[in-house]
Amino acid sequence: MVFIYPGSFDPITNGHLDIINRAVKLCDKLIVAVGTNISKKPAFSVEERIELIRASVGENEKISVMSFSGLLVEFAKKHNSNIIIKGLRAMSDFEYEFQMALLNKQLDSELETLFMMTSVHYSFLSSSVVKEIAINGGDIGGLVPDSIKDRIIKKLYCSKNV
Ligand code: ADP
Repeated sequence: MVFIYPGSFDPITNGHLDIINRAVKLCDKLIVAVGTNISKKPAFSVEERIELIRASVGENEKISVMSFSGLLVEFAKKHNSNIIIKGLRAMSDFEYEFQMALLNKQLDSELETLFMMTSVHYSFLSSSVVKEIAINGGDIGGLVPDSIKDRIIKKLYCSKNV
């Protein structure tokens, strides 16, 4: 079975990585799909976001990271998947995810959206929180994988303060 885990991953956090590591155990192949058609301007380019995910995930032949634009239902079809994985944090995620899941179901009745509950220690964590802390020179240790921490700080803090 092929699972698709879509998101903006701007940048990937330990909350995302936790979902990836748990979801990959349940499928044959997991595609992390980095959205390119989002209205808010991302801090990291698609290439940078993909690179940060690859560096976080490490070598795992079951995981592919790629960009996607257009409709998720079409992307899923193209990759022979009918399962979308989403992470759920607080109630605030629910309303949006509920709407998206029903909308995708409307577009393709074969498509299922599965929700995975956040791990309790990541329930507060989002890419926006990471960016806010990094831009202001705070410590993002424990919030993002160690292997990409310096790259995030370099991009968001150092480039602002030169
Ligand atoms: P955000 O910008 O809010 O971090 P993304 O679009 O990158 O969100 O998120 C992609 C998916 O990962 C969504 O399903 C989102 O709910 C999930 N996700 C994000 N952060 C976490 C977390 N800390 N724990 C569990 N799921 C998460």
